[in-house]
Amino acid sequence: MFNNKEAFKQLFQEKLVSKLGKPKMEAQKADVYKVLSSMIREYASKNWIKTNQNYQAHQEKQVYYFSMEFLIGRLLGNNLLNLGMLELVRDGLKELGWDLEEIEEEESDAGLGNGGLGRLAACFLDSLATLQYAGHGCGIRYKYGLFEQKIVEGNQVELPDYWLQKGNEWEVRRPDKKVEVRFKGNVEISKENGELVFETHNYDAVTAIPYDMPVIGYEGEHVNTLRIWSDCSVDSISEFLYPDDSQYEGKLLRLKQQYFLCSAGVQSIVRTFEKLGLSIEHLPEKVAIHINDTHPTLVIPELMRILIDVKGLGWAEAWELTTRTVSYTNHTTLSEALEKWPVSMLKELLPRIYMIIEEINTRFCGMLMKKYPDQPEIVPQMSIIDGHQLKMANLAIVGSYSVNGVAALHTDILMKREMKLFYDLYPNRFNNKTNGITHRRWLLHANPALSNLINESIGTRWIDSPEEMVGILKYSEDSGFQDRTRAIKQHNKLKLASFIHEKQGIIVDPYSIFDIHVKRLHGYKRQLMNILHIMYLYNQLKQNPSMDRIPRTFIFGAKAAPSYWLAKRIIKLINVVAHQVNRDRKVNQKLKVIFLENYSVSLAEKIIPAADVSEQISTASKEASGTGNMKFMMNGALTIGTMDGANVEMHDMVGDANMFIFGLQSDQVLEYYQHGGYAVQNVYHSDARVREVMDQLVSPGYFGLNGYEFEDIFHSIMSTNDEYFVLKDFASYIEAHQQIDRSYRSPKKWQRKSIINIAHSGKFSSDCTIRKYASEIWGLERI
Ligand SMILES: *Cc1c(COP(=O)(O)O)cnc(C)c1O
Repeated sequence: MFNNKEAFKQLFQEKLVSKLGKPKMEAQKADVYKVLSSMIREYASKNWIKTNQNYQAHQEKQVYYFSMEFLIGRLLGNNLLNLGMLELVRDGLKELGWDLEEIEEEESDAGLGNGGLGRLAACFLDSLATLQYAGHGCGIRYKYGLFEQKIVEGNQVELPDYWLQKGNEWEVRRPDKKVEVRFKGNVEISKENGELVFETHNYDAVTAIPYDMPVIGYEGEHVNTLRIWSDCSVDSISEFLYPDDSQYEGKLLRLKQQYFLCSAGVQSIVRTFEKLGLSIEHLPEKVAIHINDTHPTLVIPELMRILIDVKGLGWAEAWELTTRTVSYTNHTTLSEALEKWPVSMLKELLPRIYMIIEEINTRFCGMLMKKYPDQPEIVPQMSIIDGHQLKMANLAIVGSYSVNGVAALHTDILMKREMKLFYDLYPNRFNNKTNGITHRRWLLHANPALSNLINESIGTRWIDSPEEMVGILKYSEDSGFQDRTRAIKQHNKLKLASFIHEKQGIIVDPYSIFDIHVKRLHGYKRQLMNILHIMYLYNQLKQNPSMDRIPRTFIFGAKAAPSYWLAKRIIKLINVVAHQVNRDRKVNQKLKVIFLENYSVSLAEKIIPAADVSEQISTASKEASGTGNMKFMMNGALTIGTMDGANVEMHDMVGDANMFIFGLQSDQVLEYYQHGGYAVQNVYHSDARVREVMDQLVSPGYFGLNGYEFEDIFHSIMSTNDEYFVLKDFASYIEAHQQIDRSYRSPKKWQRKSIINIAHSGKFSSDCTIRKYASEIWGLERI
């Protein structure tokens, strides 16, 4: 169908007319997008069906990746890339008078996730399909994705993201595969042949309808499925995504969503398994269920329910099968993010599921008492039910055969501190799988010029084996190669500068250092430290406008959870400082601050290739891995960062000379926490630079108008003992920025560092990560 450009053009034009029912002269960009994407989906269907038939015929083991979030972004460009049709379609459209890049802008950015966790799930699906593993996504088809952010007078305003408004060309509705999910009811227990039988009556039934989206692997042969579930009840369960990132919200509707996903997903898996004609004892040989954080932990009691109540298995056998099927990824040690559901809520909403959890807990605690007869204090610490709360992480660990952290440091903290008791009990269960990103979206698609340069220098094998990107190390000293990587960066910066101008009417110097901090807004990610440092720079430049500084453009992008007051205030502060700095003609040749609204996957793809400096400055020990850090590295930005998450592994590879590391180490931070923090007053009083910016937060009229004071932010530091160590790390952050300024003055050295970073970034491809999950956790083979 698409073997040549002429055939494509002809078919496309025919479809345009037949699908739209109007002459092609009247077609709009949105029409072109619709027709093109539906053509691509149809084209992929053949391989989609074939892939599924192959799985059935070979009785391939299937892995189901359960996630409450899939932050997919746009698919047209990536699907064309993976099908190898990007050039052909771009050229064909061009000849018909359309620009593919503009057509891509017509697609809604599918934001069915908050941030890193949801984006990880999307990258993993891409790698599973590309590596030809039998791995599928299982999620919720939220009618509204993560809110759209507008900045109005410096404040975040949230608008609903009705991403389905224009329809979703990639999905196929599968009403034939619907299942029923049951809530509430009374559990009746009877005895049959001496066995207890559980039956729930008077339950509320909800119909779950799956929508399947093809996940097209690179080179197009292999097509897996992302199955997202929707319900048609009046007060819809799948209506909207909860907008909290790294923060737990104990809302009833959220619990309904979690069980809805788990029950619909597990029922449909068991049904598919049964088509193989094998008895249920073979389940763990043919099925792996992976849970992305604790949000889908109810797959454990749900699978138990099906095995016991529906399949008639005894407890011991059901437990053995379940715990050989389920594996779990932990994403955080932040206490505010750990899920703890009220027992009363579970009992009422999911009575049978709660009984099963209680039984799991009773048996688990019984085992603990036997194992640790002299340490009764251990039992309440490890118990799954703690008074009135269900601890989801404890249930997830007890009910799965593998528990992994997402970066070496994070896994270490899990094993040595946060989950030490569980690690002591199940040492073989714990393992590390450092996160990754798909280099197809984040390099080939987002930065085609850099990809082409790599192709020209080391050939194209790195595309299939991204570790081979280290091959470009040999060009790190090559001045021709340095010049070309620099020119590519400059081109990307010009493009971003014109995007900024178009969006905000602000002219930024495209030859300044683009210093970029984009990620969810959170205390631990320390956007506040960045903006306070900008205030410090501004003070310096005001005092001495002729100071010798390389011009710097600081760019932010961040959504705050709507209920996270302080995060929203920090957005306001960034915008107020930006307004002040950008119009100050004494300094604005050397300093600009930009806040780009509505940070999302498609915006990330525009921003990241243009970065000189990547801000990865979380309080050490708090960022489990980070994946933004990897995207920037792969696009040649140099990192200013703490020894946290995967930054540590980046540092292992490139060394001190090629990163700007600063701040406390995680051990030091954790040590301080154990002793109630550090003396923030001392830093405030002893460092005049710190005191000046802190005082400016609360000085009336400092930011021009009265009413732009930030007492709340001031107190968030001073009266919490600076829980995120913003002031403690401030001096060393200033120094790291000075080092950036010095380094940038020597273009060759800078470019050399950049190339070294790109070269080592291949190891952060999610292909490498997924190979490890497949062999070390799921026991999958490539077919
Ligand atoms: C990669 C990504 C993230 C995660 O970024 P971190 O810096 O790791 O927190 C969040 N949001 C979007 C849109 C992303 O693409």
